[in-house]
Amino acid sequence: MILTRITQYIKDHGVKSYVYHTWRDLEDEGGNKKGELRVLVLEDNTARVEYKCPECGHEAYEEKPWKRPFNVKCQKCSCLIRVPKLRDQVKKKK
Ligand SMILES: [Zn+2]
Repeated sequence: MILTRITQYIKDHGVKSYVYHTWRDLEDEGGNKKGELRVLVLEDNTARVEYKCPECGHEAYEEKPWKRPFNVKCQKCSCLIRVPKLRDQVKKKK
């Protein structure tokens, strides 16, 4: 795991409860890990998003309003990074 900004945020602000939290590996179609995505949503309905872009490897952190379906655009290559549905990932591993 390489992402550290949200871990630091939780520590700095003493976060104890949240609305939504996920930390996913981003894989290509062959199941190879290409990047990472972590999303933390607090009761202010703002998503803290940290990612490693699966396309270009750029790492970044940003805050934006939380809504579903949720996605974030890479600040470097503009590719759209979506929160993978857990259902799809489970299906793939069978
Ligand atoms: Zn990118």
